[in-house]
Amino acid sequence: MNATLSVVIPIFNEEGGLQSLFDRLYPVLDQLGRKYEVIFVDDGSSDRSVAVLRGQFAKRPDTTRVVVLARNVGQHMAIMAGFAQTRGDYVITLDADLQNPPEEIGKIVAAMDEGADYVGTVRKDRHDAYWRKAASRLMNRFREQTTQIRITDQGCMLRGYDREIVDAINSCVEISTFVPALGYTFARNPVEIEVVHAERTVGTSKYSLYRLIRLNFDLMTGFSVVPLQLFSMAGVIIALLSLVGVVLLAIRRLVVGPEAEGLFTLFAIAFFLIGVLLMGVGVVGEYVGRIYEQVRQRPRYTIAALLEQEESQPHDVPAPRTAERTSGAGG
Ligand code: UDP
Ligand code: MG
Repeated sequence: MNATLSVVIPIFNEEGGLQSLFDRLYPVLDQLGRKYEVIFVDDGSSDRSVAVLRGQFAKRPDTTRVVVLARNVGQHMAIMAGFAQTRGDYVITLDADLQNPPEEIGKIVAAMDEGADYVGTVRKDRHDAYWRKAASRLMNRFREQTTQIRITDQGCMLRGYDREIVDAINSCVEISTFVPALGYTFARNPVEIEVVHAERTVGTSKYSLYRLIRLNFDLMTGFSVVPLQLFSMAGVIIALLSLVGVVLLAIRRLVVGPEAEGLFTLFAIAFFLIGVLLMGVGVVGEYVGRIYEQVRQRPRYTIAALLEQEESQPHDVPAPRTAERTSGAGG
């Protein structure tokens, strides 16, 4: 039996591009000749995205499921909400803006058929703003050195996870997370393949600089405590150097006598150290804030509506009934 597929797509205000996404995605999946479901997760869109998704559900109820979240919770939590609904053996994530060509899904499936339980992707020729590519390179390098996570291109969301990994991800209750990294921590046989990347032609990126910084802090704090250790290490080194300075100055005081020059040097050193200190407090704050969010144990997302075809019972006549369930909080 061929493995079945679940495709999970988070959507936040993508009304303009959805139709072309459907036009390209469904034929690709039909051609693979496997049982599949596409799970669209509306992440609190304020445009017509939900209406467009409803239209697509009406057209293809057999292969389409729509999760409508009550409010915007961010791309990664939206994907988590989608994962909770998946039934396929392989779960593939994809961006809605067609920056990840659906035509590449076949490659991921092929890699998984060959035994990979986690398929990462590297964007061959990334089409994003220059500053984002530069920042990504920097973050990729920092992450490589501070975590056990070996992914070349953390930002590419076109990825494949097998059922066991998705079940493991579903058992996690973390609030600030980064799905590709989380999946990687459960992988036994991860592989990476190259995929094409396209420019966003419809709509604009949903990541402001602020949201990108937050996301990268999620990744750092969620998978490593090295940033904290860097500050304790820096503290030790600065304290040792200062001790040497104190001893030297004490000797100088005895030999040369009292002096009061170098006031501005002192200022410069003091300001530098205050800067380091503030940064350290900030890093601690990033961890503490996330711990605070986590311990409150509020629901991570609320599902406003779930559009899916009612599963037919074994001896039932398969009726094309659809169910719109309104269920409560998730995870
Ligand atoms: N997205 C989402 N919730 C958000 C932000 C983004 O579901 O809060 C979705 C968005 O609709 C898209 C995907 O996540 O399908 C990637 O977003 P985007 O293309 O804006 O990111 P970029 O390609 O600029 O990194
Ligand atoms: Mg994009």
